[in-house]
Amino acid sequence: MALIVQKYGGTSVGDVDRIKNVARRSIAAQAAGHDVVVVVSAMSGETNRLLKLVSQISDRPSEREQDVVLATGEQVSIGLLALAIQAQGGKATSFLGHQVRITTDSTFSKARIKHIDAERIVEALKQKHIVVVAGFQGQDEQGNITTLGRGGSDTTGVALAVALKADACEIYTDVNGVYTTDPNVCPAARKLDRISYEEMLELASLGAKVLQIRSVEFAMKYKVPLWVKSSFTDDPGTLVCEEDKSMENVLVSGIAYDKNEAKIDINGVPDTPGVAAKIFGALSERNIGVDLIVQTASHQGRTDLTFTVGKTDLPHARELVERVAKEINAGAVETDVEVSKVSIVGVGMRNHSGVAAKMFQVLSGEGINIQLIATSEIKVSCLIHAKYTELAVRALHTAFGLDQPPVEG
Ligand code: ASP
Ligand code: MG
Repeated sequence: MALIVQKYGGTSVGDVDRIKNVARRSIAAQAAGHDVVVVVSAMSGETNRLLKLVSQISDRPSEREQDVVLATGEQVSIGLLALAIQAQGGKATSFLGHQVRITTDSTFSKARIKHIDAERIVEALKQKHIVVVAGFQGQDEQGNITTLGRGGSDTTGVALAVALKADACEIYTDVNGVYTTDPNVCPAARKLDRISYEEMLELASLGAKVLQIRSVEFAMKYKVPLWVKSSFTDDPGTLVCEEDKSMENVLVSGIAYDKNEAKIDINGVPDTPGVAAKIFGALSERNIGVDLIVQTASHQGRTDLTFTVGKTDLPHARELVERVAKEINAGAVETDVEVSKVSIVGVGMRNHSGVAAKMFQVLSGEGINIQLIATSEIKVSCLIHAKYTELAVRALHTAFGLDQPPVEG
């Protein structure tokens, strides 16, 4: 007998029939002899609907109150799911985050889980109940309701699996696993049987939306094997797990793209110590994250500095950068939102050279200009014109041999 945590996303509980389907699946898992804890998201579209209500009242809402509103979405789905399980003859109890003491810090809207006191869950499991827990929410030390950031139910699922020492954590979604790239963009995309935590983490940070980044960090830290599966099929899905030797044979495991960044250029930046610190210090003070950065070689004591920020941060970032540019006596500030970041990821890159060069060749072969480059041990990212995103992804997918399944050995 095993203890299984199953997490179902918004589309999996998107309507009453789908909720009944989840009830059937959790009952089947219990009938197979397991203790079952189910974490659910709000019904699809619900969190957005709630956010919209908030925005109609205030454009700078108190994050504490916004969390009070957003946390209600999951309350509806846990109650409905528990009812559906009961209607099918099963035993079920639902719990909100605070009822099972999911304690977080007080960073409203993106709180981090600090600990979970799973006593009530264990008690209910002993009574042979399927335990249904609200994802995405917790409570801080003062008893305020908090939420974990968009997609946060994944993290609730993994954190519960850790707290309960579960044997497996299954993340159910509307696709049947993790793909080599977005199948909507590249018809040749393939489902992966396995992927390492590290690769998954990179892909999630680079724009792949299957799992919340923090849930992967958690799983990696505590070595929880994560299954990504579809709630609509019986496909075994993708296992996210520790890296092993065979994974290194594959140069590139996945390709991600992200159209949510914007580029900022500062021309004629005086080439003196402290200037970069001033610019990026001002941005970080305002919690504006900077991604790719490039500085050109100094020419007559001046350089050009180019970097990217999130599109939603652009208006604010531009204002700040223009102010600092004046202070340091730099030239014009230009921005561009028609950009996209395309990245290749693979642990095999660690032991192979020439991967980045091949990526550049493929892009240039398609006539695509590379505006910025960033690399890490297991990824290479290029910023290109947004209109070439699909072309770039497809060309890279083919060039790195992802159109065909890898040869074992
Ligand atoms: N309901 C929340 C959201 O839409 C959390 C989740 O779905 O994981 O972001
Ligand atoms: Mg989700």
